Amino acid sequence: MYTDGRLTGDRLVAIIKCLIDLIDAPIEFSQHISYETWIAGFCMTLITFNHHELLLKVIDETTSLLIDYLFLTRTADNACQILFWFVRYDKRLQTFRSVVDHLANLFEKLKTIPNEELKTKLIELCQMGIVLHPEYDISNESILKQIIHSVPQPDLNILLNHKNFHSRLHSLNMENDQKIKNRVGISNLGNTCYVNSVLQALYQCGLFRKYVLEQRFDERVVLRELQLIFAELNLSKRAYINAVNFVRIARPTWFTVHEQQDCAEFLGYLLDTMKNEEKALSSNEIHRLFTIQTCQRNRCQRCSIESYREESSNYLFLPIPSSDRSQDNYNYNQSATPISVMKNGLKFYTASNGNSLTSSTLPLCDTAMNSLNLQTVFDCYFQKEELENENQYRCEHCRSLQNAERSIVLQTTPEYLILSLNRFEYDKQTNIFRKVFTKMNYPKLLNVHVYPPGAIPLLTKYNLLLIIVHTGYTLHGGHYYVYARDIKSSISESEEQNDEWFLLNDDLVTSSSYEAMMENCAQYTSATPYVLFYKRIGQQQTEETPQIHVRESLIRQMREDDSNYEREIEK
Ligand SMILES: [Zn+2]
Repeated sequence: MYTDGRLTGDRLVAIIKCLIDLIDAPIEFSQHISYETWIAGFCMTLITFNHHELLLKVIDETTSLLIDYLFLTRTADNACQILFWFVRYDKRLQTFRSVVDHLANLFEKLKTIPNEELKTKLIELCQMGIVLHPEYDISNESILKQIIHSVPQPDLNILLNHKNFHSRLHSLNMENDQKIKNRVGISNLGNTCYVNSVLQALYQCGLFRKYVLEQRFDERVVLRELQLIFAELNLSKRAYINAVNFVRIARPTWFTVHEQQDCAEFLGYLLDTMKNEEKALSSNEIHRLFTIQTCQRNRCQRCSIESYREESSNYLFLPIPSSDRSQDNYNYNQSATPISVMKNGLKFYTASNGNSLTSSTLPLCDTAMNSLNLQTVFDCYFQKEELENENQYRCEHCRSLQNAERSIVLQTTPEYLILSLNRFEYDKQTNIFRKVFTKMNYPKLLNVHVYPPGAIPLLTKYNLLLIIVHTGYTLHGGHYYVYARDIKSSISESEEQNDEWFLLNDDLVTSSSYEAMMENCAQYTSATPYVLFYKRIGQQQTEETPQIHVRESLIRQMREDDSNYEREIEK
């Protein structure tokens, strides 16, 4: 771009002017998806050409303005985003301090005009500021102390990696040579990490990827758009792509643009949409790959008559025990009534979606908090449950409420078993969903008992394929990213040395490992696995790395984009 290797004179002045104009006018730009990217781009340019002093000057001159913008509803989110970068970049204490000085007023305002996402961002900013400035004496800062002591530590790894200048630098294609082979990121269009995570997760399912890339979808708009994304993820030379059309087409109408959403809800909605589109093609593949068939059995204790209810779903919504941490604002269990209490004090809660299927009871088990295993939680879901007291069952035969015994069994084994952990419990008093941060182990191998109707029960084994992690404190805040595993041999349980793991975090794709994933989740309280995909251990060696015959028209389209891309980087 600048062949003489320097940035001076008019060009430098123009860049600084643009940067200040942008910061000065967040209202006009607030709905523009690439606002952040523009600001990051200009800042990066200054850093790349060693104009650190100038950037600090811009920071000094705009910080108080940005703090004013924090108090205005329309500009708060963007202002917070920029301040986050400034605090991150500015090694001097003053930028962080000026934010801290206004915290009390800001939190006061957030009480009257709640904005969970802004609150999360502010907490993250403070957590980061404290880490970056260990010299900062917080003993007199009551609000800061409250933040530190009342909420769990955020996932600073991700905080620093996801939002710092270096990741933007990567996004701006300046470090393109670091691209991991055959892996493509998806850029964040403003709180679209829930879509990006779901796309990467579905792409990770080899059999599904094969199906999508080989079919003709014509009028099936969502599948067709997904096919384009998959073709790009499969063939693009770019470090990352954008899914702007997909987001527009696939987003449920009730999802607000630019707001963080529940990725499990989106995943379920998307699978339903695709299954409907698939029906019109007389295909059953998506259904076969993902649908879970369960049967609920209720046995009335008065008349002993059993009733059955079959149900199909996209994922199992598993209740998880909540740690009983009654401190400050994070008193998780104050109002909700646990449906079961473990010996060591762990409590199970009913799911918040009103689905009675999920209100399974925990069997007696002595699992200590720190060694709680997903296998246990999974097995608990299928344990027998006594329906008594206010939970009594309405027996059709007795025509009244009766004590009953309930149990759920799996009737089919989908290729991909999706588990969603019920991490958000509803608090009746405050009318908000509180996050359950409970840590557990996520085994690479899951044992699943299946009871096909009219056939003998089977034990089926599943390999861990990927985990979507939610980091943050609220359902409509925080951030999602994916740890995905390339299963090299899908018939064996033990040959896992060759498996490759990736961290797919929006536009960033990095190599990772099972151990790194577990460490990340153990270290940071707010980083919690939320949706997990398990792959049934199959009959064929190459099941998860299938030969895919990508449609010719898609290949042509990708080659065209390659030449566009080459022209772009030449500029
Ligand atoms: Zn009865």
